This record gives sequence, structure tokens and C-alpha cells, in this order.
Amino acid sequence: MARSVFVTGGNRGIGLAIATAFKEAGDNVAVTYHSGEPPAGFFGVKCDVSDTEQVDAAFEAIQAEQGPVEVLVANAGITKDTLLLRMSDDDWESVIRTNLTGSFKVAKRAAKGMLRLRKGRIVFISSVVGLLGSPGQVNYAASKSGMIGMARSMARELGSRGITANVVAPGFVETDMTAVLPEETQKQYLGQIPLGRFGLTTEIANAVRWIASEEAGYITGAVLPVDGGIGMGN
Ligand code: NDP
Repeated sequence: MARSVFVTGGNRGIGLAIATAFKEAGDNVAVTYHSGEPPAGFFGVKCDVSDTEQVDAAFEAIQAEQGPVEVLVANAGITKDTLLLRMSDDDWESVIRTNLTGSFKVAKRAAKGMLRLRKGRIVFISSVVGLLGSPGQVNYAASKSGMIGMARSMARELGSRGITANVVAPGFVETDMTAVLPEETQKQYLGQIPLGRFGLTTEIANAVRWIASEEAGYITGAVLPVDGGIGMGN
């Protein structure tokens, strides 16, 4: 049966690939758009995930369009990379606000409906950087590892109601986010990836779709790396 799926940041990059994967599987999919435009073929809601009122309004609109959210993918994220001593309070706070607080807000709002449904899937898009650390990404890495503690706590709170909370941790994927990295940095990453190539957005999407499927019903609190092996053992 078609489920009501909500992907934040689903208007481009990895989020759009995730939204497309669910749609291809026959689900009804809503996505947010924020600074950009709504993508064709999806129910688009304009929403800044760091704003509680906008998050509430998005969930109301989605519920009216396709029913209460049964699968949430907290994917929206930003970077503001710079070395520690140059990192301003605003660089720190804005990345934490969007990536971590935004994910908390949408997950909390989604859980409300899922508890009523007595089922649900919450998937957080973290990053291998949250496990390994990364120079110039103190803010981003903190936001991404914070998601793991958050997901695992939710998994414990919500498990008895048939709700799973998991984390997908992508490695390096070619999107607008990584296109801004200097060629030299990209080369250095590439040299450390056992599979010898960057990931495709569809490869992240397939993992997300699977961990939100019936087949993955006994998996909760897990961190699933989709990273070509770069984060092995972490
Ligand atoms: P992009 O920069 O291509 O897309 C980011 C998405 O997040 C956009 O849809 C954007 O919406 C949305 N967004 C940003 N801020 C907000 C906000 N405040 N409210 C709502 N939506 C917002 O990134 P990617 O596709 O590369 O990354 C997607 C996720 O995957 C991120 O969480 C990222 O950290 C993670 N990731 C990416 C990796 C990579 O190599 N690319 C590796 C590991 C993790 P809009 O376009 O409207 O601004």
C-alpha cells in the first residue's frame, strides 16, 4: 500500500534521489523546498526546517494531501566550512540549527502522528564525517554525530510503538554541496575510498528506501554507512 513519505530537502541532490526512489516504489511523496524551487512531480511544501511554525504548517499540508507521515527522511542540511579558529559563532549555530535542530523538529512532529498510527520509519541523513571528523567541518561533524545519539534515543523511546529510527551515513557524493570543494580536497578523499569512486545519489536513496521498508522492520538505532568503505570500522 502507498505510504505517506516526507523528505526534507527533497528538491535537489541526495534528497531528490531519495524522494524519487520512494515514488518509484509507489509511495506518495512530499518534499520541502527552502531557498530553491519545488521539484516537478512531487507535493512541495515551502519550509525552513529550523522554524517550528513552518514545520507544523508543512505537516498539516502534507497530512491533508496524502495522509499522516509514515516515513520521514530528515535530509535537509548545509555546510559552512572553515577551520576552528576562523569559525564564527554564527557558522557554528546556523549549521547546528539547520542540520541537528531542524532534524529534531521534523522528527518530533512526525513522531506525534506515528504514535497514533502505531507505526513509522524515521531516517536521518548523517555523514561519514560525523564518525571520522573532518578538518574545517567542526560544526558540520558535530551536527552529524549529534544525529546518531538523537536517533538512538528515539529508537529506544518509540520502539514499542512500532516506530524505527535509523541513520544513513553517506560518504562523498557528487552534489551541489560537494561541488564547492577544491579539486585537491576531492582528490584526497578519492584516494581514501576503497571502492575508488564517489557515490551516486541513487546509491544513498536505495539504502534509505530499504531501511524504511517492511524488510528492514527489525532494524532500529542502526547507523548504515553508504560510503564506498571510507569509514570502515567506525
Ligand atoms: P545539497 O546542498 O545538494 O542540498 C541541500 C538540501 O537541503 C536542499 O534541498 C536545500 O533546500 C535543503 N535545505 C538546506 N537548508 C534548509 C532549511 N533550513 N530548511 C529546509 N531545507 C533546507 O546537499 P546534498 O544533497 O549533497 O546533501 C543532502 C544531505 O546529505 C545533507 O544533510 C548532507 O549533509 C548529507 N550528506 C551529503 C554528502 C555529500 O557528499 N553530498 C555526504 C554525506 C552527507 P533548497 O535547495 O531549497 O535550499
